[in-house]
Amino acid sequence: MATPMWAPWRMEYITGANKQPGCFMCSHAQDRAKFRENTVLVVQERAFVCLNKYPFTSSHLLVAPTKHVGDPTELEEADWDALMTLVRESIARLRKAVGCEGMNVGMNLGKVAGAGHADHLHTHLVPRWNGDTNFMPVLADVRVMPEYLDEAWKRLWPAFADLPGERAPDPDKA
Ligand SMILES: [Zn+2]
Repeated sequence: MATPMWAPWRMEYITGANKQPGCFMCSHAQDRAKFRENTVLVVQERAFVCLNKYPFTSSHLLVAPTKHVGDPTELEEADWDALMTLVRESIARLRKAVGCEGMNVGMNLGKVAGAGHADHLHTHLVPRWNGDTNFMPVLADVRVMPEYLDEAWKRLWPAFADLPGERAPDPDKA
């Protein structure tokens, strides 16, 4: 990160207070009935995109393989290619949808490197704007409002609608 950001709602994530049993990344990719609830934008055969529920900035995305592995070296070539292609496609769509001026893109491999969920590899796409610190609307108990995440998801949904894969129904027609 170029600028240290104040993101107190991440403490819930870091301390594991809200952790579900099993792997939430796997659930996101597999639970079709909860694509919207889980802020999933598209699920392809080998890779998928969702919003980070513990974002550093608005519309912070995660792009992950559908396969439950913690390291790129454990992926087959086809999985890696699909992941990188979806990362690139997501960068273009995210930039267009939110009009960001820059982006942090990267992976944290292993807990020592800062991975909050090290068992299931994921690439962070963090859109950045000039002066983007401290602007997320948060509740008194320092959680991002679920309504706000759904708003972000609704805004991004059309930008990802052209990609092949499975997704929640169009929120404008729901
Ligand atoms: Zn998993």
